[in-house]
Amino acid sequence: MKRNVRELSQNTYDILVIGGGIYGACVAWDACLRGLSVALVEQSDFGSATSANSLKIIHGGLRYLQHADFTRMRESIQERRTLMRIAPHLVHPLPVLIPTYGHGLEGKEILRLALAINDLVSFDRNMGGDPQKHIPCGRSISKGEMLRIATGIHQEGLTGGVQFYDAQVYNSERLLLSFLRSSWDAGAQLANYVQVTGFLKEKDTVIGVSAQDGLTGDRFDVRANVVINTCGPWINRMRSLLNETSVRQNIPFAKAMNIVTRPIFSDYAVGLASHRVYRDMDAVIQKGKRLLFVVPWRGCSMIGTAYSYCNGDPDGTKVSAQEISAFLDEINQAYPSAKLKLGDVSFVHSGLIPSTVTGKDAKDVQLAKHYQIIRHDNHGMRGVLSVVGVKYTTARQVAEEVVNHVFQIWGKPSPPSRSGATPVYGGGIERFGKFLEAETTKHSHDLSAKSIQHLVRNYGAAYSDVTAYVEDVQRTDREEPWVVLRAEILHGVRSEMAKKLTDIVCRRTEIGSAANPGEEMIARCANVMRDELGWTESKTQQEIQEARAVYAWG
Ligand SMILES: Cc1cc2nc3c(=O)[nH]c(=O)nc-3n(C[C@H](O)[C@H](O)[C@H](O)COP(=O)(O)OP(=O)(O)OC[C@H]3O[C@@H](n4cnc5c(N)ncnc54)[C@H](O)[C@@H]3O)c2cc1C
Repeated sequence: MKRNVRELSQNTYDILVIGGGIYGACVAWDACLRGLSVALVEQSDFGSATSANSLKIIHGGLRYLQHADFTRMRESIQERRTLMRIAPHLVHPLPVLIPTYGHGLEGKEILRLALAINDLVSFDRNMGGDPQKHIPCGRSISKGEMLRIATGIHQEGLTGGVQFYDAQVYNSERLLLSFLRSSWDAGAQLANYVQVTGFLKEKDTVIGVSAQDGLTGDRFDVRANVVINTCGPWINRMRSLLNETSVRQNIPFAKAMNIVTRPIFSDYAVGLASHRVYRDMDAVIQKGKRLLFVVPWRGCSMIGTAYSYCNGDPDGTKVSAQEISAFLDEINQAYPSAKLKLGDVSFVHSGLIPSTVTGKDAKDVQLAKHYQIIRHDNHGMRGVLSVVGVKYTTARQVAEEVVNHVFQIWGKPSPPSRSGATPVYGGGIERFGKFLEAETTKHSHDLSAKSIQHLVRNYGAAYSDVTAYVEDVQRTDREEPWVVLRAEILHGVRSEMAKKLTDIVCRRTEIGSAANPGEEMIARCANVMRDELGWTESKTQQEIQEARAVYAWG
């Protein structure tokens, strides 16, 4: 992928996508597969906003049973299967355990019934999939087994546990980049660090946007037949730029946070009941509390999710030390033997997600359960659509619907979507386990099994894009993990539009995805980028400061 801002200003595209989060990336890919010409601009780096902060869970839908929302359950179940098929190197089944207590709503009887319904609703969950990723039926486990896995769990009334499956994205940033790379190969024009600053209009029709290159300061226009706004929490700002004629209310957002800590459980995600009283206004079955999920992540645990009200300003989503401490207290109450302290926190994810009420209207944060596709022609403005997504899990499926709307706007029959059946870049793998084993034994470029596995897990069948740089690197460096990382940096800069050090540390490689990779590693990455991009010493130092700041919270 090459950034070519000039070219953006010289064409008129069928579709211009604003925002390179997971929703924008999926819209671009689905549209390309239907033969449309596509441009996408992102004000920062691709996937650096809300999409970078997810708990990495591809939901299997069980949790929506408490809302009796079978449509949403089916959407999640189908997308879990789809993503495992089109991105088999990146999406894998994740066993989840929930302890059971007594004989009421938290009891084995009720939860077993929930699992049975879930098994029924997800009857086709393995259809056409990789048998090595088979998702079995839910099951209940004994008290002894539950205690072996979660030794420190509250024991009063404990009867055992239940196990079901979600899926987990091994690297959510690389999944997003795979959608973008696929789009690029299909002819899309993409650029990070390009901010949309206004809309170009002819009477009541949007015909494009004005934009500014964040790297050079240059201003230019991009023209398109339809503009699709996938700006996540920036949507209200975008709508005010549109200056619609009809009155509308801002969409409320809530702040969400996950933390990465030293490992609590390995192999399983475990759902622990928070002791804080919580009322979900949409739930048919009120449990009166939320579950906190402790998810295995890069040898650590990722724990989420804490929600709070916010003023909806997407540029100010930092969390305070008090908020992290309060969340640690909540986790320690739910699982006292965790004994987590601030010093155990190695990374904090935070972002804004759509809510249904503003702070004044409800005691507890209420999350939006359903995505919205806003047709602005209903508000007096043609040629523009906005998307408000609620889950990373269902972004591809929502994108499919968005592109259907585009054809409706044009009054043309919509060709069938192919994004659910076409592997993303690097995803052309039939049996992931077999592929991993076979590639590992090839020892490409004399690399160790560990290095090859790392590359296959991140780049799938396209890992040779990175090993193509290895021979060059090996002329001056022989220290293996560094050789591979340096090759990844070169690939990131030359083929994936990495422009800043944080793009490499946080999104093109996985080195900074669970904790600060350390001063030495940050400096080494910075030096490779300096040599590639011709940075001055002061620019290099500024980039290092920005990378450090990612790990400074509170
Ligand atoms: C803490 C947390 C945990 C979560 N956990 C999960 C989970 O486990 N599973 C799950 O399925 N979902 C989860 N989610 C939800 C999921 O992450 C979001 O639904 C999803 O990432 C939203 O993607 P998006 O593309 O709409 O938004 P974003 O990723 O925010 O993308 C919007 C992009 O638009 C860009 N933009 C804004 N204005 C402009 C402009 N003027 N010009 C150009 N670009 C612009 C922004 O820079 C941004 O990159 C979680 C969310 C959070 C915050």
